[in-house]
Amino acid sequence: MELIERKLNFLERAKKLTKEKLAKGFLIEEELTDQKEIDFRLEKCRSCIWYDKRKDECKDCGCIVSLKSTTKVSRNPNRGGFKEIIKGGELEQTHCPQGRWNDKDIANFYRSIEGRVLLD
Ligand code: SF4
Repeated sequence: MELIERKLNFLERAKKLTKEKLAKGFLIEEELTDQKEIDFRLEKCRSCIWYDKRKDECKDCGCIVSLKSTTKVSRNPNRGGFKEIIKGGELEQTHCPQGRWNDKDIANFYRSIEGRVLLD
């Protein structure tokens, strides 16, 4: 059976646009310039069970994949003290939370901070 993919409605598009603007304005600290690494990340995300193609989002971290894949350092709005939160959150190395970008050690570092189960 072929599934028909529903397009984003007006409200969903507006939310996505707002999220993109917030990410570009607040959360992205340093962009990644290595095109090979960007292509690798996109390939991994687009074949990942956590990828929401309709929204172009990771269902684990909630990031917009087209932006996340080109980001080296970002702010996490869910972590940090007052001084960091008003800047957008704690700085972190942009990573795949499932370690699928060949970055399991980094993913586990942040998973341990967040109290999540570590990856094998
Ligand atoms: S960031 Fe990681 S978990 Fe999320 S969609 Fe990409 S590969 Fe999957």
